[in-house]
Amino acid sequence: MINRPSIDTLEFARKGQTQHLQLRSGDLRRLTDDSIFVNDTVKAKVIGGVQKDGKPFIEIKMHGELKLTCQRCLELYDLQINSHSRFIIAADEMELVEVSLEEEGVITLLAEQERDLVDFVEEELLLALPMVPLHEEGECTIPQLSDGDTKVTSPFKGLRKAF
Ligand SMILES: [Zn+2]
Repeated sequence: MINRPSIDTLEFARKGQTQHLQLRSGDLRRLTDDSIFVNDTVKAKVIGGVQKDGKPFIEIKMHGELKLTCQRCLELYDLQINSHSRFIIAADEMELVEVSLEEEGVITLLAEQERDLVDFVEEELLLALPMVPLHEEGECTIPQLSDGDTKVTSPFKGLRKAF
């Protein structure tokens, strides 16, 4: 993706705008780690709207498939991302505090005039990733250590033979 759209979050919500994003590994600046890859694209839909109680919100729905490096066997495995989050947009800090008190378990964000959408989605994606990536129990590929296989022994053995 060449252009990185940015939005005025409050306006985006109030106008009920929608934006589709398709992110590839290269778009995700914070996923530069070699241990994580996006298989194809992460598709995200950013939706603005106003709740029945008048509070403006932004929702991020995303899905995609990633490859993560298992920290037990160091092999890659697939992880499906399917997340859906809602954020209430507060116009100022006073409102931010008020809404946070009123709405338990809802994330409240301070309105921003220029919010980089790719960055916004990337933050959500990072939250959806496991703290320690691991295969499901019993699915690790245990590295085959040489037992009786002389081909994978010290290179010095071969040297000695040559003399
Ligand atoms: Zn593993």
